[in-house]
Amino acid sequence: MKIIQHIEHAQKTLLSYEILPPLKGRSIASIYDHLDPLMEYKPSWINVTYHRSETAFKKRSDGSFEKVEIRKRPGTVGICAAIMNHYKIDAVPHIICGGFKKRETEDALIDLNFLGIDNVLVIRGDASRNESLFEPETDGHIYAIDLLKQVVNLNNGLYLDEDIRDGGHTNFCIGVAGYPEKHFEAPNPDVDLQRLKTKVNAGADYIMTQMFFDNDKFFDFVKNCRAEGIEVPIIPGLKPITSKKQLSILPRIFHVDIPPMLANALLKCKSDAECEKVGTEWLVEQSKELKAYGVPVLHYYTLGKPSVIANVVKELF
Ligand SMILES: Cc1cc2nc3c(=O)[nH]c(=O)nc-3n(C[C@H](O)[C@H](O)[C@H](O)COP(=O)(O)OP(=O)(O)OC[C@H]3O[C@@H](n4cnc5c(N)ncnc54)[C@H](O)[C@@H]3O)c2cc1C
Repeated sequence: MKIIQHIEHAQKTLLSYEILPPLKGRSIASIYDHLDPLMEYKPSWINVTYHRSETAFKKRSDGSFEKVEIRKRPGTVGICAAIMNHYKIDAVPHIICGGFKKRETEDALIDLNFLGIDNVLVIRGDASRNESLFEPETDGHIYAIDLLKQVVNLNNGLYLDEDIRDGGHTNFCIGVAGYPEKHFEAPNPDVDLQRLKTKVNAGADYIMTQMFFDNDKFFDFVKNCRAEGIEVPIIPGLKPITSKKQLSILPRIFHVDIPPMLANALLKCKSDAECEKVGTEWLVEQSKELKAYGVPVLHYYTLGKPSVIANVVKELF
């Protein structure tokens, strides 16, 4: 079922989770171990992130170095199929521009369609560790909107090979990323919003946000989207803070602010266990306020912390 249908049919706030594929070498059982404690709260679907390969230099026995492409977390599509089969719920693979030529993307979308996957979250991906700015593949997509247009084309039966006439139509529901605190490469929030609007006008069915810790930023973002005529559902992405280290890591990696009240409470903690308690309580309060505001879905980034997420969602669902 499409995410947009889940939302349209809902009588109350829905719940969804995001997981990462496990590190290469770990089994699918690690995914079930991660998700099992969270399933009793009845999520409507589960997102699975996509991780491109990274270039690394491996030392040979003669002391020289060999350039290798390493994918630490493969398996997004397989995990989606396994989740749908094992839990009988929808899974949403993230698809990215980075590392894909357009033809590879087309083939990947055909695989997803044949597997009965109705949803994709279309995003650009970040620059590789050895790039200062995002570099597309030769004949790959530069921005999420270009990838989105390819998905929309396939939904209309338009393949890259123009010789394919009367090709099968896919029917993907398309989500895109939105940034309540602005994407870090955008010159200002207004420009970022215009670019988000372009994605929606091109066919995005809903927006899923970057994590944020201050609900007022989300409320302003929704207000600004609506004022710009962006009418699609906006799903807040939520993450607990569980250690002091994250006070500097999260702003650096995700370009989000930690509100002073939360940062001060965390700085006073004497252990990670205390931090986890503070972060959990903050996220419960954040979630309750968002639910009261009327968000369609509370979407949790579980990121290796299923027990913390379980402690939050049991207060809400
Ligand atoms: C909900 C969510 C899920 C994510 N999942 C993953 C994942 O699974 N795997 C992963 O690798 N990363 C993931 N990311 C991270 C994401 O890839 C990065 O944030 C990336 O830097 C931007 O992706 P985007 O889709 O927002 O890009 P875009 O929408 O392409 O925007 C990227 C930047 O380009 C600018 N821009 C857009 N169009 C134009 C244009 N025409 N001209 C000039 N500038 C333009 C935008 O303002 C923005 O600054 C996720 C992010 C979010 C919020």
